[in-house]
Amino acid sequence: MSAPSDIIVIGAGIIGISTALELTRAGHRVRVFDRDGIAMGASLGNAGAFAFTDIVPLATPGIMRKAPKWLLDPLGPLSIPPRYALKIAPWMLRFWRASWQDRYAHSVKAQSTLMDLARSALERQIKATDGEDLIKRQGQLQLFEGETEFRASLPGWDLRRDHGIRFDLLQSPEAIAEIQPGIDARFTHAGFTPDWINTVDPKTWTEHLAQAFLALGGTIERSDVQAITPHENHICVSHSNGTETAEKVIVAAGAWSHHLAKTLGDHIPLETERGYNTTLPAGAFDIRTHLTFGGHGFVVSGINDGVRVGGAAEMGGLNLPPNYKRSDILLQKAASFLPGLNAKGGTQWMGFRPSTPDSLPVIGASPHAANVIYAFGHGHLGLTQSAATAEIVTALVQNTPSPIATDAYRPERF
Ligand SMILES: Cc1cc2nc3c(=O)[nH]c(=O)nc-3n(C[C@H](O)[C@H](O)[C@H](O)COP(=O)(O)OP(=O)(O)OC[C@H]3O[C@@H](n4cnc5c(N)ncnc54)[C@H](O)[C@@H]3O)c2cc1C
Repeated sequence: MSAPSDIIVIGAGIIGISTALELTRAGHRVRVFDRDGIAMGASLGNAGAFAFTDIVPLATPGIMRKAPKWLLDPLGPLSIPPRYALKIAPWMLRFWRASWQDRYAHSVKAQSTLMDLARSALERQIKATDGEDLIKRQGQLQLFEGETEFRASLPGWDLRRDHGIRFDLLQSPEAIAEIQPGIDARFTHAGFTPDWINTVDPKTWTEHLAQAFLALGGTIERSDVQAITPHENHICVSHSNGTETAEKVIVAAGAWSHHLAKTLGDHIPLETERGYNTTLPAGAFDIRTHLTFGGHGFVVSGINDGVRVGGAAEMGGLNLPPNYKRSDILLQKAASFLPGLNAKGGTQWMGFRPSTPDSLPVIGASPHAANVIYAFGHGHLGLTQSAATAEIVTALVQNTPSPIATDAYRPERF
């Protein structure tokens, strides 16, 4: 193991904060830089799920046949705004390649391996930070509208079984109501995954970890990082308040990370799947587990005493204005699927998921600078995989064996 280092972490989202905490616990001196503060990006308003059973990447075999349909339905669960279609074409080409059977199988295996670590790493993190009060252990119910949709989902359940994931398949509205009353009877089938965990609020969870980090002597500064420059014995980080040096730098800047990687000469195909939701106030619905309406591309989760309805994946880049019609449509659907839902008084939000073509994160040293480590691109699963990422990055920093093989996540794979 190498001696304690001076480390700069760029990004105070769940990945940056979780990693900064783990590095500090391992004895390193860590400073976090973020232009907006703690949990102000995607980590602010996500659905709050530790979705350990989500091992299937977005690029499934045959998915490209559905692409024209996305383009024609601008408010469907998956869409590409026409203005962005040309820009995203190179990423889509890689996405298409990632859907080939052999690459898909490789991604499922790599995702499953990371999820195994994610589960145990989260438990270690909860224990180390005394965080059980912020955790809900209520499982997840994935709902299917009729026999045909359920049958189409069976290969996915077989895959989960093959990877050791526990689940129960429910085949009547009555069986579903035993776990979650109040769901419209058109949802006749469901899969229940008991090991799914949620946090009471993803922002509060990130702040909780940030407090643990600060208590150990770490620092968090507001500044906008513009470039990273490697030198023989140190790394320079140029930012809005000046220039800092460190022995190692971790790039955990979410959907903006590829811009920083570019300053080192690394071209990483990172896009953003913009997600939308509405958070309803306390009492909106008596939610007892995390609900996934996969066929409609959205979920309903309990956040504090309220309810968050959200999802959608809009491949629209970082600069187009949000289209909150998406939040409206998801909420309307939720109100019809959960007849007792009080859909009034909600707050809308849009967040940038940092997404790679193969749905796997980028974790590893920059090909151009061994002391710059990338930790981004977690797509739909950044909260879920944050504690695991922190452990892997810490092993890379310390030059100790990684808890899992990291080849599948290395930046050079593209
Ligand atoms: C609607 C929605 C629902 C989701 N639900 C879930 C879920 O239930 N479970 C799950 O696991 N995941 C979920 N996700 C995905 C999850 O939110 C992300 O994967 C995760 O938050 C990414 O964390 P991050 O730290 O990489 O990025 P972010 O949280 O976006 O943090 C990146 C930080 O970097 C900072 N930054 C960027 N560039 C710079 C710069 N140049 N200088 C300084 N600072 C910079 C930003 O200000 C930001 O604070 C969801 C996402 C969305 C949009």
